[in-house]
Amino acid sequence: MKNIKYVIIACFTCLWCGCYQGMLFEDTFLDDEDIMLYDEKPFKFDTLCEKTNGATILGKRRYLDKREIALMSMLGQELIVKESVLYNMSYNLFIKLEKQGLFKLRFGIDATDYDKTDYRWGKDGYYDSRERMIFFCHESLIMSERVLLHELLHVFQCELATVRPTVNNELFMEYEVLMIYDIIQQRMRGDVRIHLEGGNDNKVYADFIREAALGNYTFNKELLRKLFNDFFMKKYSGVKPNYEPSFLFYFLGGRVVN
Ligand SMILES: [Zn+2]
Repeated sequence: MKNIKYVIIACFTCLWCGCYQGMLFEDTFLDDEDIMLYDEKPFKFDTLCEKTNGATILGKRRYLDKREIALMSMLGQELIVKESVLYNMSYNLFIKLEKQGLFKLRFGIDATDYDKTDYRWGKDGYYDSRERMIFFCHESLIMSERVLLHELLHVFQCELATVRPTVNNELFMEYEVLMIYDIIQQRMRGDVRIHLEGGNDNKVYADFIREAALGNYTFNKELLRKLFNDFFMKKYSGVKPNYEPSFLFYFLGGRVVN
């Protein structure tokens, strides 16, 4: 009887240890899976967004409400999952904001009818860099990928490439964002219509966009500066830009420009 007891205990111990061992293996295995399932820098787009309640800010400007924030975050998440460059820039922005302990991005609607002389006239959206806030000019645009992507690029341009939105810079900033927009569209969707510069008909510009979209563009600051100036001057009949395309440097060189 005594022997049987020992055998039972021994078996139970073995079973239990085996099971425990199994659990440990399972845990290790799950840990490996976790690493595969989640990026080493887990990041969700809505961690960039401040929760707001739709309240009025000033005049016809108001914050997005919770439901609108959720809808727009879904679209933002889709965008950053689709394109790793956007993911990386969003993540870098998130880290920067965390480090500075300053803010999250805020989003709102601006239904103001701006005067033709105002830079916001006729726009679908804009980034107010002082308030660090993206405004959509109509409620329907919170679900527009085109507008959100464009405004996000302005955020990265101002916050990561430290471009200053001044009266002088405004036109060049817009142009730089449209170039990068063309590159990202090309990366996300393959060979699509290019927006700027007569699009696909302008071989030099189209080739530049396609090459940059492949991601193996040999980064040469001087050449890039020259290309930017040439493209811009052709578009705006000989106006020489008084502007450093820092966001292009950052975007194509994959580094922060101070
Ligand atoms: Zn713009």
